[in-house]
Formats: sequence, structure tokens, C-alpha cells
Amino acid sequence: MNKIQVKDKVFELFLTAEAIDNAVSEIAIKLNEDLKGKNPIFLVVLNGAFIFASDLIKKITVDCEVSFVKLSSYTGTRSTTMVKELLGLNEVLKGRTVVVIEDIIDTGITMAGMIGKLREMEAGEVKIVTCLFKPEAFTKGFTIDYIGMEIPNKFIVGYGLDYDGYGRNLPDIYKIATS
Ligand code: 5GP
Ligand code: MG
Repeated sequence: MNKIQVKDKVFELFLTAEAIDNAVSEIAIKLNEDLKGKNPIFLVVLNGAFIFASDLIKKITVDCEVSFVKLSSYTGTRSTTMVKELLGLNEVLKGRTVVVIEDIIDTGITMAGMIGKLREMEAGEVKIVTCLFKPEAFTKGFTIDYIGMEIPNKFIVGYGLDYDGYGRNLPDIYKIATS
């Protein structure tokens, strides 16, 4: 199905499950090489990253821990959004190799806040993994170590990403239809 409706909006097929799986496999190959002997802890950023993280972590072969965090942020205009708290993290990160798993990096504001929190917790090496990256929207300077796919600055749903709570279950990724 090339066009779908999620609530009041029409979306068109953008990335197939097969294309996504190839990108996930490529990231896993690099991570398995780079994380050898590092005893990493993966931090999955909920909610959006749950499907990507599940697919990715199944392909990880090094010994690792997996934990889940939720970010609560001050709402307001987009540019003033600040990460307030990291919820759900019980592990001590001091000195650990931390691999953050995100669904999408857009402006980068969320991830910049996350990196700040990890620094406060004295994490050791911090690596950033994102399934999708919108370079045109990015406003920050941090390095994104692993990117599944770069995409244009368009709103997308599926593969864990929602529109107003819906669409996370779609195995493919859809972008908002322009007409
Ligand atoms: P940033 O702080 O980088 O601007 O935004 C990151 C968060 O915004 C993502 O984790 C995601 O929750 C949400 N987001 C950004 N772009 C999209 C998009 O195209 N679709 C959906 N569903 N969420 C997005
Ligand atoms: Mg996210």
C-alpha cells in the first residue's frame, strides 16, 4: 500500500521494511566491531526507538546491557524545548561505554540534552546511534556516530514513530504527503 491515512493526515511510502533492515544490519556490523571488549550499555530512548532498538540489539553479538530511558522535556516552542529529566535509568553510568539509541535526530535538541545528562552522570565514552537523521533540520554540533539513513526535512511515521500516538506499528516508514 503506497498511501495510508493516519488520523487526519495522508502519508506515502518512503522506506520499505527491507531497506530499513539493511540499514540496521550495517549499523550492527560496525557496532559489533567498535564495541568489542567495551562492555557497553545501550540506552534506548523511548518511546519512538523501541522497534529500531529491538531489531538492532538482536543483531548485536558483544556482551552488553540494555536499559530504557524516557526524556521528559519542558514544552514550549520548539527552540526552547529543554530536556528536564532522564526517567527510568537505574544503572550507574560512571566510566561506562554508553550507546544511545534514538529513532530520529531532527534539530538535535533532544539528543544534546541527553548528552548533557550523560556527562553529568560521568559516563565514559558516549556513542550516538540514530535510525534516521534530518541534516537540514540539525542545529547542533555533536557527532552522530552511527546513522541508518539521512532523510529530507519531512514529517514521517512508522517503524516506532508516531503521528499523535498512531502509526508506530507500521513496518515501513511513510512520509507526509505533500498534496
Ligand atoms: P529533535 O530534538 O532532534 O528536534 O527531535 C527529536 C524527536 O522529535 C524525536 O525523537 C522524535 O520523537 C521527534 N521527531 C522528529 N522528527 C520527527 C518525524 O519526522 N516524525 C515523528 N514521528 N517524530 C519526529
Ligand atoms: Mg525519539
